[in-house]
Amino acid sequence: MEKVNSVSHDKPRLVVVMVIDQMRADYLWRWQHLWQHGFKKLLEKGMVYDNVYHDHVPTFTAVGHATIFTGTSPAIHGIVANKWFDPIRKTKVYAVDDSIHKKVWGEPDDKGYSPANLRVPTVGDLLKLRNPQSKVVAISLKDRSAILSGGKKADFAFWYDFIQGQWTTSSYYAPDLPQWVKDYNQKAHAAYFVPEKWRLHPKLHHLRDKYDPSPYERSPFKEVPEFPYDIMDAISSIPGTIGSTPWGNAITLDFAKQAVKQMKLGKDSITDLLAISLSSTDIVGHYFGPRSLELLDVYVRLDSLIGNFIDFLDESIGPENYLLIITSDHGVAENWKFARDSLSIDAGLLTQDSFKIWQEELNAFIHKKILEEIIKPMPVLLQEVESKPSRSKRKRRKKYPKNVLAIMNQWVYLDRQKLGDFYDIALEAARQWLVNKPQVLNAWTRKEILLRQAPPYLIRSFDPERCGDIWFLLKPGWYEGYAETGTTHGTPYAYDQRVPVVFYGFNTQHAIYHEKKSIRFIAQHLVNLLGLSALWKVE
Ligand SMILES: [Zn+2]
Repeated sequence: MEKVNSVSHDKPRLVVVMVIDQMRADYLWRWQHLWQHGFKKLLEKGMVYDNVYHDHVPTFTAVGHATIFTGTSPAIHGIVANKWFDPIRKTKVYAVDDSIHKKVWGEPDDKGYSPANLRVPTVGDLLKLRNPQSKVVAISLKDRSAILSGGKKADFAFWYDFIQGQWTTSSYYAPDLPQWVKDYNQKAHAAYFVPEKWRLHPKLHHLRDKYDPSPYERSPFKEVPEFPYDIMDAISSIPGTIGSTPWGNAITLDFAKQAVKQMKLGKDSITDLLAISLSSTDIVGHYFGPRSLELLDVYVRLDSLIGNFIDFLDESIGPENYLLIITSDHGVAENWKFARDSLSIDAGLLTQDSFKIWQEELNAFIHKKILEEIIKPMPVLLQEVESKPSRSKRKRRKKYPKNVLAIMNQWVYLDRQKLGDFYDIALEAARQWLVNKPQVLNAWTRKEILLRQAPPYLIRSFDPERCGDIWFLLKPGWYEGYAETGTTHGTPYAYDQRVPVVFYGFNTQHAIYHEKKSIRFIAQHLVNLLGLSALWKVE
């Protein structure tokens, strides 16, 4: 290892922002007695903020990353969900969709990805704007996490091709992968990183009988969610399965070390930015839930991995020369059945199929309301379109004009064009119908949001082109998911919004701050520290 200068400068040589996907605010403290390496160092030496919120909806990965790195809210940065509905083109849009650029090393018709949908610059973009020699690199198993951390001018966003088992990028950044990435892909196959079986970490053996297996979790590896798991076969056939194990974090951090070495990050006084997003915490969290031994096992191993990464930064960059920031993109809910059984709370699950039924019912209700409210029938809207006579004797279902285009991310998208003068009636009808649903606590229309007569988190999250016409808040403990076991996130409740933030390294002194903050303060802090031009925000 070459010698590094440990003299402090006025700016760090390298800023590392590490997002631990789905790390809820309580985790760092709940398991504090188990930390021996990275998390212990961060809690004992770092500047710790324990009351920070992603003060927007939905609390999803793409939204969280865009918010952390731009210091703005979805209403400004435009990343309003992982996937949203485009009411003009009547199609779903993925947060990092790009119709021009291609996946490097992919099949010719593979979709490419880019930050095209992001409306504002990231901190990395402002860094590159000040000095193009600053290097900005973003790495994650998930494409959206890497791309939205890096921003428009990043040298590279690298993510993991789950099928090919290789680190990849898109032609947005370069026509081909750098040679060092190709070399790395050749020798660092996922299977090299994992043992034959995922066994419970020895430190946790005493908890085994108490917590495993649990009725609230499911496993991607076998029927009964119980240690040990045979993972080698699954990973050998689909390398991306490594994301569902603790070693998804290991390959990400190993690749990040390669990037530091090969791209010479932090080697001179021109500040570089490395964004790393660790996805296995989220993937395992979805399968097994926040109270599982499997998730705890992931965090105990992550404690070592982060400790090891800090050692690497100390040796290669110098302890005074880098700033490490650790945070998360969102928290997570308790499994809904666990909330029922343990807390006697009326929690529950709504699937995509439930929302398809809602869409049909709401369509019919809106149609009925329009019929009731007007005197003069409008031929196109009011004509009931009967389904074609069916040969079977089954009961025919009435079909109504499709005024509800989609229900996504708790947004109802109405067909404004088709509704025309009936839009207001439809909007009121939708609200009335929604607030009568037993799973819904409240609902706000886009008119109310535009007049700022809605909760601040919702006003901050509203993009008039990408959001719908009415947004509904599910009751606490309810969520939209796809399985009875495991869990998910997305709501504005604190369990989904609140995350930890720790600053470690360059010019930091140990302290714990309890004051309430928006997650957007991280980007503002970096802009101040690095002397960058202003964030593209309005407050
Ligand atoms: Zn997630």
